[in-house]
Amino acid sequence: MKILITGGAGFIGSHVVRLFVTKYPNYRIYNLDKLTYAGNLANLTDIEERENYTFLKGDIVDADFIEDIFSEYKFDAVIHLAAESHVDRSIADPLAFVQTNMIGTVNLLNTAKKHWADDLGKHLFYHISTDEVYGSLGEDGLFTEETPYDPRSPYSASKASSDHFVRAWYHTYGLPIKISNCSNNYGPNHFPEKLIPLAINNIKNEKPVPVYGKGENVRDWLYVLDHARAIDVIFHEGKVGDTYNIGGVNEWKNLDLIELLCDQMDEKLGREKGHSRSLITFVKDRAGHDLRYAIDSSKLMDELGWKPSVTFEEGLSKTVDWYLENTEWLENVTSGHYRDYYEEQYERR
Ligand code: NAD
Repeated sequence: MKILITGGAGFIGSHVVRLFVTKYPNYRIYNLDKLTYAGNLANLTDIEERENYTFLKGDIVDADFIEDIFSEYKFDAVIHLAAESHVDRSIADPLAFVQTNMIGTVNLLNTAKKHWADDLGKHLFYHISTDEVYGSLGEDGLFTEETPYDPRSPYSASKASSDHFVRAWYHTYGLPIKISNCSNNYGPNHFPEKLIPLAINNIKNEKPVPVYGKGENVRDWLYVLDHARAIDVIFHEGKVGDTYNIGGVNEWKNLDLIELLCDQMDEKLGREKGHSRSLITFVKDRAGHDLRYAIDSSKLMDELGWKPSVTFEEGLSKTVDWYLENTEWLENVTSGHYRDYYEEQYERR
């Protein structure tokens, strides 16, 4: 089987690529990535020489490029993760999100439909999405697969739109699709603009740790390797046309999470207990900041037998260890050094 994985140099995509390349040596995995600021091939150095792995540098917004690679490699399936993914950036520059998340997704759908027309049923377009499409919850309740869409940020609006396009290609053209909507991920290779890696980096360097508002926003957190395992299960065993929610049954207020992180890091760095908490700095809240996300993943658990493999405390501790051990990765990413390097290494096709 030849699988095109888009966005495979990013945070979640790199874990999905590694899992598929190593677990399924008979599959051929093609990783298509534009290598934006968020894409980093250093996430995949351990598997880059594998025979069943190929990297393709390109932009999903470029329909001719997508057509070329479908013609050349004749993919059997697509797992689509490429996206602009940062809510704050979407507030500053919404159009980039419309381009990649909406136009890019439609390009992939159009090309897959065209190339698979003779034997549609043998193929699969699996779209990776977020629970942010469901909007914001009050103190109670959980997002289920039936929760109506109510996106609030340009990021979630663009992801909601891409989900709708994927379903439209299923209903209108019969393209076999699956969608999963996952809660917040954390773990190794996370770009340090996001809450947990940003906080780890700042705590390590004794810099202020910014927390939006009063830190009362609640998120469900899932260890990224557990998300990759869920994608594997849904890809192989999920029902065509269906949507699956993925979450960690693990709700945390932002402030509680940061305090836990501070305490874990004080212990690991041999600092006095409470030292890192003094770095917490409350900053002006994000515009339109959704209060609470919480997700019901019982369909995935009951029907496909998936469940998270680590507790939050374990996953967070592994994540801190990874960042403390991989200082070079962090320095390269924060300095932009690796992007200059890849500009030189990879000519646009
Ligand atoms: P990320 O920003 O770390 O990675 C995105 C990748 O896509 C990068 O490698 C980037 O170079 C690539 N990319 C961006 N624009 C592209 C384009 N036009 N053409 C080709 N490649 C392009 O994001 P992530 O956190 O790994 O998220 C991956 C997917 O999972 C996204 O679709 C996101 O919406 C979804 N998701 C993320 C989370 C989370 O907590 N991070 C949760 C649920 C769902």
